[in-house]
Amino acid sequence: MPPLNNFDAIVIGSGISGGWAAKELCEAGFNILLLERGRNVVHLKDYPTATMGPWEFPHRGKKTIADREENPIASSCSYYTEATKHFFVKDAEHPYIQEKPFGWIRGYQVGGKSLIWNRQTQRMSDFEFNAPARDGFAVDWPVRYKDIAPWYSHVEKFIGVSGNKDGLAQLPDGEFQEPWEMNCVEKEVRSRIISHYADRPIIIGRCAHLTKPQHIHLQQGRGQCQARNMCNRGCPFGGYFSSNSSTIPWAMNTGKLTLQTDSVVHSIIYDKQKGKATGVRVIDAHTKKATEYYARIIFVNASALNTNLILLNSTSNRFPNGLGNDNGLLGKYVAFSNYRGGVSGSFEGYEDKYYYGRRPTMALIPNFRNLYKHDMDFLGGYMIRLMAQRRRGADSEETIGAKFKEALSEAGEWQVFMSMQGETIPKESNYVYLSKEETDPYGIPQLVTSVDYDDNDDRLVKDFLQQASEMLDTAGVKNIGKGDNHMTPGLDVHEMGGVRMGRDPKTSLLNGWNQLHACPNVLVTDGGFMTSTGTQNPSLTYMAFTARAVHHVVEEMKKGNL
Ligand SMILES: Cc1cc2nc3c(=O)[nH]c(=O)nc-3n(C[C@H](O)[C@H](O)[C@H](O)COP(=O)(O)OP(=O)(O)OC[C@H]3O[C@@H](n4cnc5c(N)ncnc54)[C@H](O)[C@@H]3O)c2cc1C
Repeated sequence: MPPLNNFDAIVIGSGISGGWAAKELCEAGFNILLLERGRNVVHLKDYPTATMGPWEFPHRGKKTIADREENPIASSCSYYTEATKHFFVKDAEHPYIQEKPFGWIRGYQVGGKSLIWNRQTQRMSDFEFNAPARDGFAVDWPVRYKDIAPWYSHVEKFIGVSGNKDGLAQLPDGEFQEPWEMNCVEKEVRSRIISHYADRPIIIGRCAHLTKPQHIHLQQGRGQCQARNMCNRGCPFGGYFSSNSSTIPWAMNTGKLTLQTDSVVHSIIYDKQKGKATGVRVIDAHTKKATEYYARIIFVNASALNTNLILLNSTSNRFPNGLGNDNGLLGKYVAFSNYRGGVSGSFEGYEDKYYYGRRPTMALIPNFRNLYKHDMDFLGGYMIRLMAQRRRGADSEETIGAKFKEALSEAGEWQVFMSMQGETIPKESNYVYLSKEETDPYGIPQLVTSVDYDDNDDRLVKDFLQQASEMLDTAGVKNIGKGDNHMTPGLDVHEMGGVRMGRDPKTSLLNGWNQLHACPNVLVTDGGFMTSTGTQNPSLTYMAFTARAVHHVVEEMKKGNL
């Protein structure tokens, strides 16, 4: 056992990226303190709603008016329901200031948002890593696909990702288990679209679900996904990846992990004489007592915006504006995903066909904009999510009674949906900072968010709405409707940036190994490091960069460089 309060490494946050940091560091033989501000959530034991039927909930699992009134921010996340709300923070307990509307969705518990995420996992490609330098936005990524590809493989094998090897440069293949299947209408729509648009392949989504568990997954105690689609309650089969079912128990089994819950990290301690960080200050969530813990390296994985908050709050004589913030860019260039556009319509035919089970993914059209050159009137691109399903209940004039009930037992018409997952371009004017007046219940300054869409985002939405409508029309979809939902930033749940990576300490906070340029024994491997967003779901990328960063610092520590 290490001496009291002294560890080889401290990891702040036990969510998707922190779980990976803890696992990899423990496996390397280091004594790790994993600090988590929330309560413990033990796999299987602490999933109170995992097997409940709708009839067992007082409100059939829906969110209530009281939920909306008491938690207007958290409840505006579509995944917040009576069945999942215990994994979302209560708004009043964790205040922040929205200078511009920003729906900050948080899960403060062991496992973080890994319990409630939607598990879609795609690799980024060189199209995204090259884009900032080529098209002149953000800064050049200090990494390319070849640097991160082995780490994607490393992560995918362990978490289990289902998908098809599609051979696309814009969405590189991974280490896949059996893919989910498109249904008959999706296949029909697909073949009609791809025969008209050579640049728009349609593939089945890739997601962190075990369709064919391997030995490594059985060793984790996880089993095959049962396609229940009740995932965000916690899965009793371990069918999807969460830190709780996978990385944290794995790290615990090494005997090297100390998991300390209810511990709110206030700031990182910097020692000017030693020229490095020496530990962290922690506030006990219940007693509010402050304690210090020490380590040789510190991984900050509190989720992008909380990581910005912790670093901004880590002030010292050497770093009066926040740890590593010599260039004043900490908190700036925050970006997110643009989910504003949606297009749908009805599909005639295949009335005698149905589908089995609840598939945890959808079909995808990988980004086809600004790929080989910048040829649109906007920067960035979008991925399209495509799904066909039968309406619940055949057409009925009745809204109550026996006839209505009968109609409900029949499948309704086929409907086809497309929605966008767009890139937003990191810019200095999208930023977060610390309030000088308001503190949270732990005496920590509240985070202020000043993040919004711009004209580029509007042009992206416009292009998506036009292209998606045309594609559905080409596919024979009728009654096409389209719309811009103007989703509040943040509700996309992909907040990124503020501590971006780059080659130059003058224009970035982190080097190519996720180390603070100015304090290399502090690493940020959650979404804070993202130089640009790409169009992919980002969490797989956080996990891969985390594993790569751990491997690097372990080598450096062995050489005595850290
Ligand atoms: C409903 C929903 C659906 C999503 N779907 C997808 C998807 O399909 N694909 C995808 O890639 N991503 C998805 N995401 C995003 C994904 O959940 C996040 O990208 C991911 O969880 C980020 O990992 P993280 O480790 O940075 O943060 P988290 O998983 O949020 O973990 C951060 C942890 O740090 C702790 N913490 C915070 N502050 C402190 C502090 N001061 N001291 C100590 N501990 C602290 C938190 O309590 C938390 O446990 C989704 C998110 C939501 C909410």
